[in-house]
Formats: sequence, structure tokens, C-alpha cells
Amino acid sequence: MTTVPVTRALFDDVMVPNYNPQQFVPVRGEGSRVWDQDDREYVDFAGGIAVNALGHAHPALVSALKDQADKLWHLSNTCTNEPALRLAKKLTDATFADKVFFCSSGGEANEAAFKLARKYAYDNFGPEKHEIIAFTQAFHGRTLFTVSVGGQQKYREGFEPVPGGISHVPFNDIDALKAAISDKTCAVVMEPIQGEGGIIPADPEFARAVRELCDEHNALLVYDEVQTGVGRTGHLYAYEGLGVAPDIMTTAKALGGGFPVGAMLCTDKVAPSLGFGTHGSTYGGNPLACAVAEAAIDTINTPEVLSGVADKRAIFVEELEKINAKHQIFKEIRGAGLLIGAELIDVWHGKAAKFLAAARDAGVMILVAGPNVLRMTPSLIIPEADIREGMARLEKAIAHVLETETAEA
Ligand SMILES: *Cc1c(COP(=O)(O)O)cnc(C)c1O
Repeated sequence: MTTVPVTRALFDDVMVPNYNPQQFVPVRGEGSRVWDQDDREYVDFAGGIAVNALGHAHPALVSALKDQADKLWHLSNTCTNEPALRLAKKLTDATFADKVFFCSSGGEANEAAFKLARKYAYDNFGPEKHEIIAFTQAFHGRTLFTVSVGGQQKYREGFEPVPGGISHVPFNDIDALKAAISDKTCAVVMEPIQGEGGIIPADPEFARAVRELCDEHNALLVYDEVQTGVGRTGHLYAYEGLGVAPDIMTTAKALGGGFPVGAMLCTDKVAPSLGFGTHGSTYGGNPLACAVAEAAIDTINTPEVLSGVADKRAIFVEELEKINAKHQIFKEIRGAGLLIGAELIDVWHGKAAKFLAAARDAGVMILVAGPNVLRMTPSLIIPEADIREGMARLEKAIAHVLETETAEA
């Protein structure tokens, strides 16, 4: 056997070019710190895009995975298993939902949600009631159905024809939704906070109006909580903070704390429409995934972790405001809990990626949400010292960009 040198350059040789990963290759992580092949250390404010909610190598998750690895990895959906049933019980006890469907990603959870919404309307009202209303800038995944419901044309372009019967209206615009919704609408789909679209929270008044309009038209309300769920906003799920319960909710990302798992949760009213044989997933309910997710939920759904989110947000906001007092670079700091968006001032619009690259060079991993917004989705248990250190590095990165780059007038 020959050994191939594994470097970032190998990516370009052997991988489909749909990603353009950063120039370093991380090899290990602990808590909110990550080390690369050269043993350079980074503070992790990215958290794997709202996935590593308990940081890297959390002992409770590592031990859940190791314990389950010695017992049972996989059977098939012809058998159920203990970790899946325990996780489903915990999710239904902790939320509005009565029933759960497991899968392995957010896109798959949404695919199940949209199929269920269509099927429920078909079963109860007939095939005419199949229209789905979603919002511009929304993100729901990369399958053909989920890019179609998503509100970003660039993710559909070149993949047409896409599924029909889907329309988009501006987010937080009650009148636009009123004009679009009808008795042909089977579902309205929204993120409680638009994530990829730029960290745009739903107004509580808008969220309540959406619920009322859905009820008036017998349409189901679908919440995509793939990014906002599992403690991210300081609630187990963000719908609690809005005071509006959906009929169907999807969750993934942080659910497995880094192990692939997703779920579609729904009420007893709608669940029967996914009857025996209507839908499925080979890996859905995988024992390894569910054992890790159970440990993640047990750890995150506690007063200490959930209430800690607001305290940690306060430190992030304080530090971002300090940076802004010095450099006047942010137009707005928004989001909820540890889903943090810092929109650049207008002259720096389109250049968020430059700040991400400079941050990496300064030893802190951040994200962007579109071309204008710096995004941070760190571990929910990131220590204060790591926040302060990461922010000191971010400040250096921003100073460097301002010295070396010119903003577009
Ligand atoms: C990330 C994300 C998805 C897609 O999840 P995958 O696991 O990548 O399929 C869907 N919806 C929202 C809101 C997301 O943030």
C-alpha cells in the first residue's frame, strides 16, 4: 500500500468542486478549540455551522458513541431499536410534537416535512390543495424539493425543471402572505430565524399572523428549525420563544452534536398521512446516531446550558460592540442566543468572505451568512475565556482587512 500525502491540495485533485474549503486541514478539536495539521490552534466560533453545540469531543457524546459502538450499529427499519425510541420519547416529551420520523440530515427532514404536508392535504382535502408558500431568502436544504421551497434562485439555477406548486413571498410581510395564501395552500414553511439568508429573525407579530392565516385556510405550518433548534436560541426550540407552535417541525444540525441525524416532528393530527410504506430512509433511526443525539439532548435540555446561552450571547455582543466602537464596521448585530449575525456597513457589502479569511489567518473560525453578514454559531458551552480570546483575534483580523483592503464606494 502506498500512502498519499494528505494536504489541502489533494482536495482539488479528488473532490468534486462544489466546496472551496479553507487552506488548513483540521485534525482534532477539544471544546471550542481546533488544531490543524501544523498544530496551529484556532478558536472555533463556527461550531460546524451550528452543529457542534457541545463543542468538539464532548465526553458525554464520546462515551454515548463508544458505548453504542460495542452494542449495535445498524439493523434496518424492519426492526426498531432502543436508542431511537428513547430519543423519540424525549423529543416528543420536550416539544409540541406527538410523533417523530428520523433521517440523517436537515434536507431529508424537510423533504419528509414537505411530503407529509402535501400528503395530509391530499388525504383530507383532495389533490387541488397542494400549494406550498415559503419565503424569499429562506434556506431549506439542497435536494431538488428543498431548493425549490428555499427562496434563493441561485440554488435552483441549472437544475430545472424543479417541482411546481411552490411560491415565495417576502419574509416578515403579513400583507404579502395574506395575498398569496388560499384554500389551495397546503403548507406555509418558515425558519423562525432565517439562517443562511442573513440571520433575519421572524417578528413575533408576523409569526402569530402566519399561524392564524394557516388556521383560516386549513394549511399546515412547517417550522424549519434545522439551524435554530436544540438550544441555539436559549430555548430548546426557537418556536417556544415566538409563542407559536407549528404542526410540523424539522431538526438536524445540533441534534447529533456532530453525528449525522435529523428528525421531522409532527402532531397526531397529521402523522397518519405518513402511513405504512409511504416514506422511509435506510439510516433513519440509526442506533449510533440516536444514542449520540440522546446524549446531546440530555446535556443541552438543562437549565444550566439553556440559560447559559443568553449569558454567552451578552459577552459576544459586548465584544462585537467594542470592535465596532473602534472600527465602525458593523451596521447591525442581530439574531438570538448563539445564532449571531453581524451585518457589515454598506460599503463593505459583498466582502464578508474577506473577513472570514482574515479571521482564519488570525486564528479564529467564523462563518458568513450571505455576502454581507459575518455569522457566529459557536458551542453553547463555549467558555468565556475562549470568547474573549477569539474576539481579540477577530479584532486583529478586522484591523488587518481595514488596513490592507479598500471598501467599494
Ligand atoms: C443547514 C440547513 C438545512 C439543510 O441541512 P442539511 O443537513 O445540510 O441537509 C436546512 N434548513 C436550514 C434552516 C438549515 O440551516
